[in-house]
Amino acid sequence: MASSAAGAASTLPGLELTELAAMPGHLRTVRTPEFAGAVFHEVLAKSALNRVPAGSAMPFSWTINPYRGCSHACVYCFARGSHRYLDFDTGRDFDSQIVVKVNVAEVLGRELAKPSWRREMVALGTNTDPYQRAEGRYRLLPGIIETLAASGTPISILTKGTLLRRDLPVLSEAAKRVPVELAMSIAVGDHALQQSIEPGTPTTRARLDTVAAARAAGFGVDVFVMPVLPYLTDSPAQLDALLRDIREAGARSVMYGALHLRSHVKPWFFAWLEREHPELLPGYRKLFPGASSKATQAYRLELAARIRPLMRKHRLEYAGRAHSRDPYPPVAAAGAHGSRRRGAVQLDAEPREAAAVFAPPGVPEPTLF
Ligand code: SF4
Repeated sequence: MASSAAGAASTLPGLELTELAAMPGHLRTVRTPEFAGAVFHEVLAKSALNRVPAGSAMPFSWTINPYRGCSHACVYCFARGSHRYLDFDTGRDFDSQIVVKVNVAEVLGRELAKPSWRREMVALGTNTDPYQRAEGRYRLLPGIIETLAASGTPISILTKGTLLRRDLPVLSEAAKRVPVELAMSIAVGDHALQQSIEPGTPTTRARLDTVAAARAAGFGVDVFVMPVLPYLTDSPAQLDALLRDIREAGARSVMYGALHLRSHVKPWFFAWLEREHPELLPGYRKLFPGASSKATQAYRLELAARIRPLMRKHRLEYAGRAHSRDPYPPVAAAGAHGSRRRGAVQLDAEPREAAAVFAPPGVPEPTLF
């Protein structure tokens, strides 16, 4: 361990030997020309499954995060706080210093083989994106999917990554044995804005095409229109056009949520806003006053009044499926997830807000994006 850390440290001027040695399970650190700008820290994980805190509003109990950090680099990303690790920061380091759990499928197999495993749904993509660029190199997802399916465990995947297409055959095989839910995150229709605020992600067009490919492979695909950005993506015309494209791609439903700026994201987001859209700063300061992480209730109600008729128009409303991550469940469906608390989520609440309401103090919640 010490010798590999020493070798890696010599190639990484930004990290000291003591820091690498402190990274649990560190094997080696890699830079490659095919992934310029990214640094991969390969580690041996001790566990693969993460339990969602009891009482969470999330409609799943377990998650797997094969990567820490995310090269998709979305400015608004909620998961930035999870990168406070060693000396990494929640800004540029989150985007470029990627921790890779190279043995995650093997560890998962051991965990799923335990007699105590109850085969509850496992969600991928709740913190960082499983189909980020690193997955092209490490190919961790096929092993994870096959291992889950072989154990009879339902699978749920949320991503912005078009690499999902690579795994449609293995997902189709898995779907013969267990329920498989696929969701794509698509929130920005304007190409220039999308490239600016989600600089490491595939284009919106490419993601829509991936939805269509998954649909053609037989999957019902849900789309997360999150976050809706005040003054940038929230006009009726913009929402109408985006939902039309999503419907034409073959998605079965849309979940939406307004921009949410937790404390570790807010300075990063406002720096981007000041650089790219300084004219919007006063409006954003009114919508997110002081330390507030969520847009004002008036804004969220206005957004709901704007987008819900469009969801109806494009036939993209939530249809009450089991295991859906719909953050706006009809009250009548309160029992659908087996919990009155989950059904009691406010209709205008965002999923993470709902999670924050129900999470025990001090317990980190998984994030959706
Ligand atoms: S929002 Fe999702 S895709 Fe974007 S950086 Fe965060 S984890 Fe990655």
